[in-house]
Amino acid sequence: MLRQELGIATFEDLLYHFPYRYFDRTKVTKIGTVNATTEFAQFAGILINIAEEGDGRKRRLTATLYDETGRIDLVWFQNINWIKKNIAEGSRYIVFGKVAQFGGYFNISHPEIEAWNSETNISGMQPVYSTTEKLRVRGITNRSFAKITQSLFEKVKQHDIPEVLPPEILSTYKLCNRFHAIYWLHYPDTEHHEQMARYRMKWEELFISQMMIARLRLQHTVQRGWMFEKVGDSFNTFFNNYLPFNLTGAQKRVLKEIRQDTVTGRQMNRLLQGDVGSGKTIVALMSMLLAMDNGFQACIMAPTEILAQQHYFGMSALLEPMGITIKLLTGNVKGKERKAILAALADGSLSFVAGTHALIEDTVVFKNLGLAVIDEQHRFGVGQRSKLWKKNELPPHVLVMTATPIPRTLAMTMYGDLEVSVIDELPPGRQEIKTVHRRDVTRAKVMEFMRSEIDKGRQAYIVYPLIEESEKLDYESLMAGYEQVKIWFNEDKYKIAMVHGRMDAELKERNMKRFVKGEANILVATTVIEVGVNVPNASVMLLESAERFGLSQMHQLRGRVGRGAEQSYCILMTGSKVSEESIKRINIMVSTTDGFKIAEEDLAMRGPGDMYGTKQSGVLKFKLADIVLDSAILEETRHAAQQIIAQDPKLDLPQNRGIRYMLTQQAQQSHWAKIS
Ligand code: ADP
Ligand code: MG
Repeated sequence: MLRQELGIATFEDLLYHFPYRYFDRTKVTKIGTVNATTEFAQFAGILINIAEEGDGRKRRLTATLYDETGRIDLVWFQNINWIKKNIAEGSRYIVFGKVAQFGGYFNISHPEIEAWNSETNISGMQPVYSTTEKLRVRGITNRSFAKITQSLFEKVKQHDIPEVLPPEILSTYKLCNRFHAIYWLHYPDTEHHEQMARYRMKWEELFISQMMIARLRLQHTVQRGWMFEKVGDSFNTFFNNYLPFNLTGAQKRVLKEIRQDTVTGRQMNRLLQGDVGSGKTIVALMSMLLAMDNGFQACIMAPTEILAQQHYFGMSALLEPMGITIKLLTGNVKGKERKAILAALADGSLSFVAGTHALIEDTVVFKNLGLAVIDEQHRFGVGQRSKLWKKNELPPHVLVMTATPIPRTLAMTMYGDLEVSVIDELPPGRQEIKTVHRRDVTRAKVMEFMRSEIDKGRQAYIVYPLIEESEKLDYESLMAGYEQVKIWFNEDKYKIAMVHGRMDAELKERNMKRFVKGEANILVATTVIEVGVNVPNASVMLLESAERFGLSQMHQLRGRVGRGAEQSYCILMTGSKVSEESIKRINIMVSTTDGFKIAEEDLAMRGPGDMYGTKQSGVLKFKLADIVLDSAILEETRHAAQQIIAQDPKLDLPQNRGIRYMLTQQAQQSHWAKIS
């Protein structure tokens, strides 16, 4: 149960199940002092007026807490049964929560509540552990956690929790020892100790991740790789006869870097950063030609079906005149066709393949894979990347491309093992995209504007947000929007195509193609078109309910326009009531088109957990550390890790034994195992 719900299987796991906050019994607020500025507060008093109201989804439980200075209302919308069972009229409780004002009264929604009796330790800090609904029903409450950890600490002695960091590190970075850190995190006797403990454990977490990265990096430097000795016929033919434009200086530089990487006899591990529209695809294609000229196969892997298709179509068009074939391999390619592709990859008759995750499956065998390009890498974990390594005797060269510039802290954690190339120059002739914020009430004007753009021969996107939790709602709003668009734009004159996630792949592709070919003037879509889609003639991007988009997402979407020579526009449409947070995001979008700035802001506003699909990738699962807030620690640990690896690459020295132990442990738990 504990294991399923919280991943706790051993006593050690229990020790690492840190409280997420403490009841500080020394800080009790008098109810009478609550005012409009009160945020989180803790009260102690007697509970009265317990009542249940409504039913079904409207069901709620209310109660009033009073002390000698006043009273405050409490309300619960969830876990009602459990809470009801555990509170009693007239008893004394300690209550913690966020105070809000409602109809002139103060109240707290979903307060934490705990009996206040002789057992309650009124003086010190008491841990509050996260548990889950299921556990609570079985009686494993925060309280029981506290009891377990308390009795655990009665038995656990200092030598049971040995130090893992070398003494020199402890003294250089002024870290307290591990036993104290863990103990104090559960039972801090002072705030100072709690902070020291937290600092130390954050440091350890980040340090271990940086050690893994440092080791990976080291491994790359000794990892033998294929030699791409020559620049051959297909590369040169393409460059001289088929390249549809002149490369930008940045593109040339990156190609040169890739060329240099692939003649060292070591494996290339390169991250190519370039804002949306900077022209990464052509760099990928030319690198693939380089591989082919040296007798190797190459693949390009994208996170979504549509993107993989786009690469496939785009590259096909460029390669066809030269008589070179590329195939598409995704989960939807089945039966005979799949068999044929797998066979051609295995016997080497097929040099190029574009695809999704399907490419890393074990059934995909290459005759001689020399280069793997991974587009929009942030959706792939480090582990997935490493799976490609197994596809040949020596691992293929790896080129990771990402459109969202990655803030430094994140890059250090996610891609710390990669060399970095940057395309910092947009193809010539691009105009800055004009971005505006418009409210619903001005919709008529906005539509008028879109119509005038379309009448000039341009195309427009209208994008609706997609949020997983309410997929159904999103679908409905998309459909409603589609009907609206049809009213604004006379169907006899304007052709409208629609794509969304629920459509079957074939129809999606057909509609998408209509827009790509210019047969449709307007593409109504959900965020499925977020990345990669390339229609240079499109000049308007209208984001509906823009308040529901994340910053990086808006930037990606905006990057779908401004790809041609025409002035392009991005219109962020919202209702009249929008949260401050959303307005902040929208203002950032209006004020800059610098992807790097936007990424930094996004990281600062959202935190890394939500970004870049890092949750799935499992790379950034820190218990305590936050790579934004703790970026100073991150820098320290990176430095420390590099030093240790330089002195003792194999971690043979006795003082580094603890580190080695931690790394092995970590590897067993995560994707990293597949690498080291
Ligand atoms: P991204 O970096 O976002 O993947 P793409 O590779 O899709 O960007 O390129 C965006 C657009 O710019 C495409 O239409 C592509 O053909 C065009 N492009 C790329 N490089 C150049 C260049 N050097 N000169 C002109 N257009 C270019
Ligand atoms: Mg792209």
